[in-house]
Amino acid sequence: MAGILVFVEQRDGEIRKASHQAISEAKRQASSQGWSVSAVVVGSGVGDAAADLGHFGAATVYVADDPSLALYSSEGYAEAVAKAAEQAQPSAIFFSATAMGRDLAPRAAARLGVGALADVTALEIDGEAFVATRPVYSGKAFATADSAGKTPQVLSLRPNVFAAEESGGAAEVVALDGLQLSIRAVVKELVQTGGGEIDVAEADIIVSGGRGIKGPENIALIRELAETLGAAVGASRAIVDAGWIGHAHQVGQTGKVVSPSLYVACGISGAIQHLAGMSSSKVIVAINKDPEAPIFKVADYGIVGDLFAVIPPLVEEIKKLTA
Ligand SMILES: Cc1cc2nc3c(=O)[nH]c(=O)nc-3n(C[C@H](O)[C@H](O)[C@H](O)COP(=O)(O)OP(=O)(O)OC[C@H]3O[C@@H](n4cnc5c(N)ncnc54)[C@H](O)[C@@H]3O)c2cc1C
Repeated sequence: MAGILVFVEQRDGEIRKASHQAISEAKRQASSQGWSVSAVVVGSGVGDAAADLGHFGAATVYVADDPSLALYSSEGYAEAVAKAAEQAQPSAIFFSATAMGRDLAPRAAARLGVGALADVTALEIDGEAFVATRPVYSGKAFATADSAGKTPQVLSLRPNVFAAEESGGAAEVVALDGLQLSIRAVVKELVQTGGGEIDVAEADIIVSGGRGIKGPENIALIRELAETLGAAVGASRAIVDAGWIGHAHQVGQTGKVVSPSLYVACGISGAIQHLAGMSSSKVIVAINKDPEAPIFKVADYGIVGDLFAVIPPLVEEIKKLTA
């Protein structure tokens, strides 16, 4: 029986939301075909996290648990994925199109002698072949592609596009033995930036600021609106390049690609490179004093006005509603 193997990302033993979404989508696709879903978890001391994946639809979870895999290594992780694929013999392998997934999926595909379809936003199945829709030309167009009959089909799924859904059940956990871990590029340390702030790549709501905020001192206004909404703080490249906020916050072609439920763009013109990172957001609200700003072409709700006059009363009203 054909099946789908999902690479599941964990950080400090906690499964990432994007992986819950990928495994849930695998379950939905597999159910329609009578296929099985398996998952592969890689790291050190990740057994507990692995056992939990049954709730999202995995029947089998392959675990590569080794101290040398505690921090991400594309060589080591690709070896684990290839080993799991050898055991599961899947028709397709799903990754999340996160920073890790974007690095790992093509490497694992190369190991398996197949191509990779990256940043998929919609999936259909034709026989045993996945037909994937993916944004191209900075989100200006969508392309559909398949894996030209090669298996396993390797696909990375854009985070926050596919819903995570608990489907109950327990998974069988299988240890992956005999890994050939000759890791040449070793990550020594991970340094956290952002001091515990919500990561824009994972956030369900994002409030982003652009050059319209005038100066770094006014990031506080964006942060206040973000905090009120329980949102992450995003930014245009203009204010990242100006040094007003760190690159981890940048949304766009050369920043992070996000698909939150709500994206609030404050003082952002809506250049094509910014839209490439956020136009797949479910609801877009733009605050801009220029009614001709391109951001209004993608916005579901637009407020034409000075953000310094609009945001403070907005914060007050949201506080009243959520009190
Ligand atoms: C190769 C390449 C890659 C790039 N990658 C990215 C990327 O990843 N992400 C990204 O964002 N950009 C990227 N850019 C840059 C992009 O082209 C734009 O320059 C940038 O997005 C502009 O940022 P901005 O909208 O903050 O600034 P601006 O374009 O200067 O817009 C500021 C906006 O604020 C409005 N405004 C001003 N004052 C107020 C006020 N008081 N109240 C309300 N509104 C106000 C103005 O009307 C204007 O629309 C890239 C460019 C290149 C060439």
